[in-house]
Amino acid sequence: MASHSLSAFLQKNLEELKSQGLYNTIQPIESPNGPMITIEGREYVNLSSNNYLGLANDERLKEAAVRATHDFGTGSGAVRSINGTLALHVELEEKLAQFKGTEAVLTYQSGFNCNIAVISAVMGDGDAILSDELNHASIIDGCRLTKAKIIRFKHSDMEDLRTKAKEARESGQYGKIMVITDGVFSMDGDIANLPEIVKIAEDYDLITYVDDAHGSGVLGDGAGTVKHFGLSERVDIQIGTLSKAVGVVGGYVTGSRDLVDWLKVRSRPFLFSTALPPGSVAAAMTAIDILQNSKELQTKLWENTRYLQDGLKKLGYSIGPTETPITPCMIGDEVTTQQFSTRLYEEGIYAKAIVFPTVPKGTGRVRNMPTAMHTREMLDRTLSAYESIGRELGPIG
Ligand SMILES: *Cc1c(COP(=O)(O)O)cnc(C)c1O
Repeated sequence: MASHSLSAFLQKNLEELKSQGLYNTIQPIESPNGPMITIEGREYVNLSSNNYLGLANDERLKEAAVRATHDFGTGSGAVRSINGTLALHVELEEKLAQFKGTEAVLTYQSGFNCNIAVISAVMGDGDAILSDELNHASIIDGCRLTKAKIIRFKHSDMEDLRTKAKEARESGQYGKIMVITDGVFSMDGDIANLPEIVKIAEDYDLITYVDDAHGSGVLGDGAGTVKHFGLSERVDIQIGTLSKAVGVVGGYVTGSRDLVDWLKVRSRPFLFSTALPPGSVAAAMTAIDILQNSKELQTKLWENTRYLQDGLKKLGYSIGPTETPITPCMIGDEVTTQQFSTRLYEEGIYAKAIVFPTVPKGTGRVRNMPTAMHTREMLDRTLSAYESIGRELGPIG
């Protein structure tokens, strides 16, 4: 018999969300997550994945995954610290350290787990964390798991960060102080001002922590935002994901050998959750080889990005402050934004509406994620749908 209080709670809250138009119905896709996807037997141009380079369905990665699965099995059998660490995990970590130009790397089951793991293992009672107000949910949760004081600063506002860093340091109340930011912000596609953040960190002795989930594979010759700014020597901790441009699943942290040694004995997802499976590790390794040895996919990604962004601007749309392939198309109020996305769907374009409370009221947008795999024809189809739907719904003349 179901608990009455649970079912009452669920019904009330689900109804409330549905009545506010905030409930998300998930449509399963029936094809690989490529530039075109199939939903209920119909094909759509896919502008909603983080599979920037198309590696999630790449033959070379699939072959590596199949081979490793054949040789080592489907599961790694244990947590890393008992006997779930395969030679393959160590090989991947060495490869990632070389790729990122840092001393050491540790992998986790996801980028989300990685943030939870690292923040809570490094920061504690008596410490303080300066966190950009638009940081990713996994950073926010990682911070909540510590007893450190959380001080939010205004999004990419360097004056606000400097003031708060100075106050925190001069108060003498805190031991370690960390500044933590996304490298690339996933809603607007803007890049953190890392040169200034690093300067402020050096002035006030802050630990620098950059979560570069959307920068890896995209910026800095694929090595990410920190490399893009030439700051590899001056950032203490970087987080990356193997789930976006790398096309597999998993997360990793880069830093000093001592940091990694500490995380191996003190970070809970490493100690208490089973290691990544061999197939995923081998596929990720193949992806890093591809990123290191060929810029072809990245070149294609940026060509497609420019084509889509220029096209939308020519049609009269605002795409906000993006500096990366993340392409929000600003629509406005919540209802029109939802309608716009639904109309795109009817025209065979899969691009999601992002509205309040994910972004501020009245700044609804449809977010488009071009990838290296999209063809000109797919992007032209997208632009022509934006043109006709814009006329129909009014956002453009
Ligand atoms: C996607 C994302 C994550 C989570 O990575 P997963 O590997 O999907 O768990 C963490 N941080 C940021 C900034 C992200 O964009």
